[in-house]
Amino acid sequence: MLTKNEIYEAVITDYTAEGQGIAHIEGCAVFIPNAIAGERVRVRIEKAQKTWAAGKITEILEKSPHRVNRECPVAKLCGGCDFWHMDYEEETRLKAERVKTCLNRMAGEQLEEMPILAAPTCFGYRNKAQYPVAQKKGRAYAGFFRAGTHQVVENDRCYILPEQTDAVKTAVMDYVNQYRVTAYDEVAHKGLLRHIYVRRGAVSGEILVCLVINGEKIPRPEELIQRLKKIPGFATLVLSVNTKKGNAVLGDRFLTLHGKGYIEDTLCGLTFRLSPRSFYQVNHHQAQRLYQAAIDLAGITKEDLVLDLYCGVGTITLAMASAAGRVIGVEVIPQAVEDARDNARRNGIENAEFLCADAGAAALELEKQGIRPDVVVVDPPRKGLSADAIEAMHRMNPRRIVYVSCDPATLARDAALLKQHGYRLQTAMAADLFPRCAHVESICCLVRE
Ligand code: SAH
Repeated sequence: MLTKNEIYEAVITDYTAEGQGIAHIEGCAVFIPNAIAGERVRVRIEKAQKTWAAGKITEILEKSPHRVNRECPVAKLCGGCDFWHMDYEEETRLKAERVKTCLNRMAGEQLEEMPILAAPTCFGYRNKAQYPVAQKKGRAYAGFFRAGTHQVVENDRCYILPEQTDAVKTAVMDYVNQYRVTAYDEVAHKGLLRHIYVRRGAVSGEILVCLVINGEKIPRPEELIQRLKKIPGFATLVLSVNTKKGNAVLGDRFLTLHGKGYIEDTLCGLTFRLSPRSFYQVNHHQAQRLYQAAIDLAGITKEDLVLDLYCGVGTITLAMASAAGRVIGVEVIPQAVEDARDNARRNGIENAEFLCADAGAAALELEKQGIRPDVVVVDPPRKGLSADAIEAMHRMNPRRIVYVSCDPATLARDAALLKQHGYRLQTAMAADLFPRCAHVESICCLVRE
C-alpha cells in the first residue's frame, strides 16, 4: 500500500473514463488529474487503498508535447471540463482509444483502429447549460460545481458555451441580487433559486430560460423578463418547480412566465420543438454528423420498418423517416413524446408514430403484436440497454441494429450480448460531441449473421 502524503515518481500510462491519468506505482493503480499519457511526474498521494490510490502532480519531470496552457482560467477548479491542459489531438486520440479498448476487452473484438469524428471547434459548442446557484455573505452567484463536490465555482465566461448563454446567467444573477432572491441551500433545504437552465438553438438562436426553484413563484418576474429581453434570441421564460431534496435538477412541474414554454431549432434539415424536459444533443454540429452516420449505417430502404428506441424528441426517428416505409419511436418522458409527435406534424412526416413507454417493455409488447422491424436504432442513456430491450431485439430479429451510445463500457457489454444472439459488429466509430470534457459518444452497426 502506498503512503498518504508521500511523494512518488511515476509515468502516466493511460486514462480513466473520467479523464484522469493512470500510473502504476508498486503494483497499485494511481489516479492523477491533469496528467497526460507519457509524462513522468512526481505525485503526492492523497488517498491510499490496497489496490488503488489518488494523487496530485507536484512536479512534471518529463512534459508531454501535448501539454498546453489552459485557455480557461478556472479549468483547474471547475468540474465542468477535464482536458484544457492537453491539445485536441491527444484528447481525440484518448477518446478513440477508450471506445476501442472497451469493445476489444468486453465485446471480444480485435479492432486495431478506431475512427473518430473530431469536432471542428472546442469553443461555444454547447447549446445547454445548467448553472447551480449558491450564496456567500448575502451575495448570490452561479457557475459550475467543483469536481466531486457541490461547491459552486464562479466564472464569468465558460468557453464551451455561446456568449448569449453566459449573458443570460449574468442577467438572472443581476436580478437575483437586486431583488434579494435567495439561493437554495441543499443542506438546510431552504432558499429559492436552485439552478439556471439555459438552452439555445444553434441554428434558430432562440433561447429558453428555465429557473429551477424550491417554491412556486419568483418575485417581480416582469423585472427579470425586461432584463432577458435585452439578450438577442431570448424567447421564453419558464419556472421548474423542484421542492424535493436530492440531485435531480429539474422538477416535474413547469410554469411558463413568458413566451411559448419551448424553443425551436433545425437539425438534419428538420424543425424541432424542444421543451425544457426533452433531451436534445448539446453539440449541434457534431450531432448532425453522428445522426448522418446512423442513417448511413442503417442502410434503410423504402420498404423498411424502423424502430427507434430511446428516441427523445424524435431527432433520429424523423431524420430516417423519409428513407423508410414506416418508423416507430419509443421514449419514456411524456413531454419529449409530445414534442416528437408535434415534430412529425410540423415537418409533414406521416409515416412516423411515437409511443410513450419504457423502451424494453414497449419493444417486448411490439414483438408480441407481431411487429418485426428491419432495422432497430437504439440510443440509450449511460446505463445502456435493459435486459428486456435486448430480449425483444433478439426475438424481433432485425437485419441491422444501429447503436448510438454515450458510454462505451455499456455499449461493449450490450454488443457482447447481441453477439451471443447472432449479430456481428460490422462498424464502430467514436464521435466527439463534448470537446474538453471526458464523455465520449460512439456509434456501432451490428448485422445479423
Ligand atoms: N435519440 C435521441 C435521444 C437520446 S438520449 C436524440 O438523439 O436526441 C436518451 C433518451 O432516452 C432520452 O430522451 C431519455 O429520456 C430516454 N430514456 C431514458 N430511459 C428510458 C427508458 N427506460 N425507456 C425509454 N426511453 C428512455
